[in-house]
Amino acid sequence: MSPRLGIYVQVPFCQTKCTYCNFHTGVVSSARFSPYVEAVCREIRGHRELYRAARVGLPEGFAKAVVDTVYIGGGTPSLLEPGLLLGMMEAIRETFRTELSEVTLEADPETVEVGKAAAWVRAGINRVSFGLQSFSDKELAAAGRMHRRADIYRAVPILREAGIRNISFDLIAGLPYQTETSWKESLEELGRLEPEHVSVYLLEVDEGSRLGKELLAGGERYSAGAVPGDDEMADFYETASAFLGAAGYHHYEISNWAKPGFRSRHNLKYWRREAYLGFGAGAHSFSGAERWANAHDAAEYVGGMEAGRIPVEQWEEVTRERALEEELFLGLRQLDGIDVARIEREYGVALGARIGPLQSAGLVERDGNLLRLAPGKVSISNEVFVELMR
Ligand code: SF4
Repeated sequence: MSPRLGIYVQVPFCQTKCTYCNFHTGVVSSARFSPYVEAVCREIRGHRELYRAARVGLPEGFAKAVVDTVYIGGGTPSLLEPGLLLGMMEAIRETFRTELSEVTLEADPETVEVGKAAAWVRAGINRVSFGLQSFSDKELAAAGRMHRRADIYRAVPILREAGIRNISFDLIAGLPYQTETSWKESLEELGRLEPEHVSVYLLEVDEGSRLGKELLAGGERYSAGAVPGDDEMADFYETASAFLGAAGYHHYEISNWAKPGFRSRHNLKYWRREAYLGFGAGAHSFSGAERWANAHDAAEYVGGMEAGRIPVEQWEEVTRERALEEELFLGLRQLDGIDVARIEREYGVALGARIGPLQSAGLVERDGNLLRLAPGKVSISNEVFVELMR
């Protein structure tokens, strides 16, 4: 069978900046959308020559690879005119051998319209991932989101009517004003809309977002004083896990749950260390031997592409030691666990010294050759990973 390849396309534009957002996205005039998409299409079509000039090597097998998943993320790619999305999909189909089984578009509920949804389906999009975060208008407003609860209830039937059979919802545990009651209400409303896939993220507190900075500084702006504590967030996560399990969702990755047959095929490539190419500003790629990322700044990216060169901002050769760390780190994110025997065989290592202390501390459990996070330790996975990488 020909090797499989995933393609990620980054669209770094949003209508406003959410207070908790730590992504490299910007609020720009819609006049900049079309030149950006042109640059992305140029990168897709010319990627082999562009990589060669930037000294990024593609393994031999890539020429025969078949693209089976596409993920158009951001930012808010659903802001783009459907014609621009179609143009990117055409560039992919004309450049690569494709057998597309999963084509995801990230969307915000307020951007969904009947005409757009029909055009998305015509472009080949068959999965929509909604950044809905909460069903509480108070929490959405405090987080700086554009949509409200009513937009979610308006958008989902439009997508279903257009023929989208695979919808994913994102929720964030830890938004300002979130309480145990409001969190349970969001979960119940989610259950009523029956998405095929659900992602639950904990609020990230870091210097990369306005809210994160304010929390670290102990300030009150952006409703920082109303952010739930770490223990509450961990409880929200456990509540979600129990709720989703009872509702028929399979917990397959730390932050992800799916109805049978609806695991995200594209995102599984990241966790399984399978190859993917990323196009657009800040997009990351992995060839199996190298990882690299384009310049985050959209203007710098477009300028580079107009000048006929790809602005690669980060590049890393994946050494054997690094690959082993990735196997453990990414493998343990998956609830099925990792095959210790395979890793020991492929990397010629004995993992006992790394795993033993974690097992004794009750952080991981072993089932034959399979190693996985222990039940109840999934929400503290970062601490497990820190121990593992020591
Ligand atoms: S919509 Fe998403 S990417 Fe855009 S600002 Fe909000 S959190 Fe960030």
